[in-house]
Amino acid sequence: MLTLKLKFLKALYKFYDQYAKNFSSVCTPGCATCCTHNVLITTLEGVHILFYLENRGKLRLLEKLHSTNYLRPSVTPNQLAHYCIHKIEPPEDDSFIISPCPFLTNGKCPIYEVRPFNCRSLFSEKKCHLGGEAFIHPLLLTVNMIFTQLLEQLDNSGLYGNMLDVLSFLANEENLAVYMKGKTPNHTPGLLPNKPLPGFLCPPEHQLEVEKILKEISHIEREGKNINQCIKLVY
Ligand code: SF4
Repeated sequence: MLTLKLKFLKALYKFYDQYAKNFSSVCTPGCATCCTHNVLITTLEGVHILFYLENRGKLRLLEKLHSTNYLRPSVTPNQLAHYCIHKIEPPEDDSFIISPCPFLTNGKCPIYEVRPFNCRSLFSEKKCHLGGEAFIHPLLLTVNMIFTQLLEQLDNSGLYGNMLDVLSFLANEENLAVYMKGKTPNHTPGLLPNKPLPGFLCPPEHQLEVEKILKEISHIEREGKNINQCIKLVY
């Protein structure tokens, strides 16, 4: 099942990368202003990165992943959607600072090919302020939220949190073994259990476009299985 989920993860990345080409951006190779230590990912995305590093003999890069005062989310994307749908004020994240991503090496990302969705979805229409604030087209912002919700749903037995916490969690062999068996790992500081999709967070003006995207995604198949077997795509 994990292998299939990884294939769907890659398929969703591929779909998104293609879709995002419809939006103009000022992002250029070598610009790493938005590369901060506040990247949020799922455990499935973490495993994708881990296997990539392992296959290339680059696991030592994990030793670089130290930082302090980074963002630890108080809710997952689907929890946030739940709060918003039910008009409940979500809990605030603890305070954090902006600091460069510890993966950055000479201004470049050594895991660019497998960078998590949080990184691949930052397409800024204007030059970012130092510290990482991007100016994203409102429709793309909605689509980004839809994808983060789908990725959480895809990793339904996994966890969500800061990339530093997720990778440190998965670097532990026992944790990885539990996760690979499809079991929900025990609560770990900084990490939240992924939640089911409560409905999509989408403003009315973007509904038609989102429905179109979901319909296209619903045709994705890998290993003779349809993505609908792993994630709920009904709007
Ligand atoms: S993982 Fe790579 S793309 Fe993402 S913030 Fe770090 S250096 Fe930048």
